[in-house]
Amino acid sequence: MNLNFDVPSTLLFGANRIQEVGGILEGIASNKTMIVCDKAMIELGFVKKVTDVLDASRITYAIFDEVMPNPTDDMIHSGADYSKSMDVDSIIALGGGSVMDSAKAINILLTNEGHISDFEGVNKVVNPTHPLILIPTTSGTASEVTSVSVVTDSKRHKKMVIAGQHVGGNIALCDPELTLKLPASITAATGMDALTHAIEAYISKWASPVTDPLALDSIRHIVANLETAVHESTLESRNKMMMGSVLAGMAFNSALLGLVHSLAHPLSAHYDVAHGVANAIFLPYIVEYNLEACKNKITPLASAMGIDVTGQSSELLSKKIVEKLNQLSDSVQIPTLKSLNIPESDFRMLAEEALVEMSTMTNPKDTNIEDLVGLLNAAYIR
Ligand code: NAD
Repeated sequence: MNLNFDVPSTLLFGANRIQEVGGILEGIASNKTMIVCDKAMIELGFVKKVTDVLDASRITYAIFDEVMPNPTDDMIHSGADYSKSMDVDSIIALGGGSVMDSAKAINILLTNEGHISDFEGVNKVVNPTHPLILIPTTSGTASEVTSVSVVTDSKRHKKMVIAGQHVGGNIALCDPELTLKLPASITAATGMDALTHAIEAYISKWASPVTDPLALDSIRHIVANLETAVHESTLESRNKMMMGSVLAGMAFNSALLGLVHSLAHPLSAHYDVAHGVANAIFLPYIVEYNLEACKNKITPLASAMGIDVTGQSSELLSKKIVEKLNQLSDSVQIPTLKSLNIPESDFRMLAEEALVEMSTMTNPKDTNIEDLVGLLNAAYIR
C-alpha cells in the first residue's frame, strides 16, 4: 500500500485556549506579530482578547483587518505590503476560513517574490514562511489544520487552490467558545462545509486507512450536533462542531475532495456565494451520483450518519443517506440554488470550469460535462 498523510500544524484545542497565544509567541521569540482578521473580529471583541494577552506579554503587534469573505488576490497583496512595511516576523490569523486563508497567502508573500497566482497548485512555495498561528472562529473550513489556502483570482474569476509545503500554519489554536455567537446561517453553512469535507474525504479516490477513521468520526460529530449548534448554540454542540471540523480537515488534507468542491468553487468565484452554502447545495446530489462507485463505503457512512443499518441493502441505505442530507439542509435552512438567481445559461460554463478543478481528480466516479450539467440542473429544480 502507498499512502501519504500530513497535518501541518500542532493542534491545541479547548475552551478559552486563546489565552495561550502570548506564551506561544514568546516560545518562538517573535519580535513583532501581525494580527490578520476582519472587522467582525474587532466588533465581537475577539481582537481585544488577543491584544490583551499580547500586551501582558509585552509582545508588539500590528493589525490588518481588511479581510472579506471569498478573499481576493488584490486584498492579499495589500495585506502583504502592509505586513512588510510593519516588519513583522510572525502572523496570527483570527477569524473564519477567509481570514485564515488570507493569513496563509500573506505569509507566503513575505518570504517569496511574485504574484500570489504564481503559487497556485501544489508545492509551488519554495521559501519557508514565518511562524503562523491560526485561530478559527467558524467550524467549517478546517484551514487551521490544512496545507491549503484558497484565494480568488479577480481577473480570471477563479478560486485558486494554493497547497503543499510552506502553506499551512504551525499552531491550530482551537477555542470553541469563539463560535458561541456565530449567527445561525453561518453556523449552518460552515457546518455543512465541514460535513462536505468529511464525506468527500471518506469517498475520495485518495482515501486511506489513516483518513477513513478521521472522516467517519467527523461525520458522527457533525450529524449529531449541527442542528443543536444552529438552533441552540450550546457550548457542548460548539465543541463537537469544532472537533468535527478539525477531524474533517485532517482527513481531507491528505485524501483531498471531490465534485462538490469542484462545482462550489466556480459558483463562489462568479457569484460570491458563501463557500459552505455552495457546498451544501450540491452535497446530496453528488453523494447520490457517487455512491455506486464506492459501494463498500455506503454502510459505514450511513452508520456514521446515525442511520440504522441493520439488515438494510446498500441501495436502500444510499437513499437514506441522501434523504438525511436533504433533511439536514432543510432543517438548518440552506438556501436553494434557484433562490440565488444564477442564470441557467451559465450552467455549462460552470460545468466546464468544474471539470478542470483539482478536486475532480479524486472524485470516486469519473465524470464529464454532461453529467456535471445534469447535477447543476438537479440541484436547480429542487
Ligand atoms: P468566512 O471566513 O468567509 O466568514 C463568513 C462570515 O462569518 C464573515 O462575515 C465573518 O466575519 C463572520 N464570522 C466569522 N466568525 C464569526 C464569529 N465567531 N461570530 C460571528 N461572525 C463570524 O467563512 P468560512 O466558511 O469560515 O470561510 C470560507 C472561506 O474558506 C472560503 O474562501 C473558502 O474557499 C475557504 N476554504 C478554505 C479551506 C482550506 O482548506 N484552506 C477549506 C474550505 C474552505
